[in-house]
Amino acid sequence: MKIHEYQAKELFRKYNVPVAESCVAFSKEEALKAANDLGVFPVVIKAQIHAGGRGKGGGVKLAANQEQVLTIADQFLGMRLVTHQTGPEGKIVRKVLVEAGQSIDKEFYLSLLVDRHTEKIVIMASQAGGIDIEDVAQKTPEKIFKVYVDPLLGIQGYQLREVGFRLGFPAPAMKQLYGLLFNLYKFFVENDASLVEINPLILTSEGVVLALDAKVDFDSNALYRHKDILELRDLDEEDPLEVEASKYNLNYVNLDGNVGNIVNGAGLAMATMDIIKNAGAAPANFMDVGGGATSEQVENAFRIILADPKVKAILINIFGGILRCDIFAKGVVDAVKKTGISVPVVVRMRGTNMDEGKKILIDSGLNFINAFDLSDAAAKIAAAVN
Ligand code: GDP
Ligand code: MN
Repeated sequence: MKIHEYQAKELFRKYNVPVAESCVAFSKEEALKAANDLGVFPVVIKAQIHAGGRGKGGGVKLAANQEQVLTIADQFLGMRLVTHQTGPEGKIVRKVLVEAGQSIDKEFYLSLLVDRHTEKIVIMASQAGGIDIEDVAQKTPEKIFKVYVDPLLGIQGYQLREVGFRLGFPAPAMKQLYGLLFNLYKFFVENDASLVEINPLILTSEGVVLALDAKVDFDSNALYRHKDILELRDLDEEDPLEVEASKYNLNYVNLDGNVGNIVNGAGLAMATMDIIKNAGAAPANFMDVGGGATSEQVENAFRIILADPKVKAILINIFGGILRCDIFAKGVVDAVKKTGISVPVVVRMRGTNMDEGKKILIDSGLNFINAFDLSDAAAKIAAAVN
C-alpha cells in the first residue's frame, strides 16, 4: 500500500528522520495559511499523488511570495497531473504539500527495499540523485551501489559508514547521515515497509542533511498489524474497480487488454493470461476468485469485469476442485441474469461436477460459448475479440 509524501514525512518526523518543515493543504486558502505559518519564502508547492516524476511533470514549483502560493495552489488543485509514472491518463491532484524552500548544495539518492533473492534488506544509494535517477539507472548503473543488511542482525555501524563514504559525504555531515539511515532502517522494519525511497536526499548549503522527498510502500500482507498505517490509505488514488474487488476478497488487477477473465487460482490465472496472449489477444485483467469461491463472489467478479468498458469478451476458466463446477456455473448464471451480458462469454470448465456445471449453463438458455479445453478456449476468445 502506497501513501502520500506528506504522510511519509509525518512518519519520518516520528522516527527522527530529518525533513524540512511542511504542511499539507486541501485548498488554496489552506496553502496560503500553511505558507504564512512556515513564515519563510520561497516555499515549494508539491502536488500530492501516488506517483513519482512530479518535478518533470510540472507538479513541483517554487513560490516566492503569497500571491504565487495562491496561483500555484489554485493551478495544482484539481488538475490532472501526467508524469512518466501515471500513464497518459494522469492523476487528479486533491492536495498539495507546502514546504519551506531549501537551498540545495547536492542531491543524493537513497532507498531501502526488500531483496527477495538474498532475503535481505538492500540499501541502494547514489551520488547522482535527483529527477534523472531513472536515466542514471539505465545508462550508468555503476553510479548506484547496494549494501545488503541481514534483517536478523539489523543495520551495523560499518554499513552506515560504508554508505556515507561511498556517497562521498563531507565529514561534518557524516553523523547526520548515520542517524538518518539508522532511523530510516528502524522505520522500515517496524512498519513492514517494502520500499522507502528518498530522492533527493539533500545536503543544504548550510550543511544540513534532509529527506526532501519521501516515497513509501508497505507490505499489504502485514497491514493487519499496523492499523495506524492502514488509516493512511487513500482510496482516491487507487483503481476504483480494484477497490471494489478488494471488498469481496477477489484478487483483481486491472490491465490494458480487452479480454476479461475469471479464473480460480492465481497460478491458473497466470497461465490463462499467457494463453490469451499466445492466441493473439490481450487480458483486460487478472482475476482470481480463489479456490473456495462462493457463487456470490463469482457474481461480484462478473459485475466488476463487466463494469470495465475495455472488456470486449470474457473468458471463464475454472478448475473444479474445492470450488465445484456446478456451484460455479450457478454463480455465473445468477450473475448474468442480474447484470445481463453485453459481450461474448467463453467458458472452459473442468473437474469436479463438470457435467452438472455444463448442464446448468446450457439449461439457462443464455448464450455461452463452450470450450472443450484450454487451447480451444484461447482460439474462441481470440476469435470473439478480433
Ligand atoms: P518528484 O519529481 O516527484 O520525485 O518530486 P521531488 O520531491 O523529488 O521534487 C523534484 C525536484 O524538485 C527535486 O529533485 C528538487 O530538485 C526540486 N525541489 C524540491 N524541493 C525543493 C526546494 O526546497 N528547493 C529547491 N531549490 N528545489 C527543490
Ligand atoms: Mn523525488
